[in-house]
Amino acid sequence: MTSIVDLSVDPPKLRGGSCRECGFVFFPFQAYGCERCGAYGESLRPIPLKGQGRVTATTVVHRHADPRRPPPFLVVQLVLDEGPSIRGIAADDYTPEVGERVGPITLPDVTDDELLAVRVAPEKETTR
Ligand SMILES: [Zn+2]
Repeated sequence: MTSIVDLSVDPPKLRGGSCRECGFVFFPFQAYGCERCGAYGESLRPIPLKGQGRVTATTVVHRHADPRRPPPFLVVQLVLDEGPSIRGIAADDYTPEVGERVGPITLPDVTDDELLAVRVAPEKETTR
């Protein structure tokens, strides 16, 4: 399985994709088909996503079945600057508000469940 995050660059980048036919940007990368126009295969190419965006919703999880993710923790929904909407978990002691700018994402504890590992942190200026 290809990782959803490229850790070979600093800061890490999310592995998204874009459609050469219609320009749609999505996450995570896949080549099965564009969600907008249906193009597939070579029409879809991987692109790095900075992991910066704006918070659209948050919710506190008080009970969770996976013992590796002890509650409570804050799940954050954000719209990335490049377009896709993703979820992550707020970094320790960070409580972003809806509308707040965040990112780039961090990955302090990559596990076999990377989607749960994506951490949302306060926005930092980045030139990359
Ligand atoms: Zn498309």
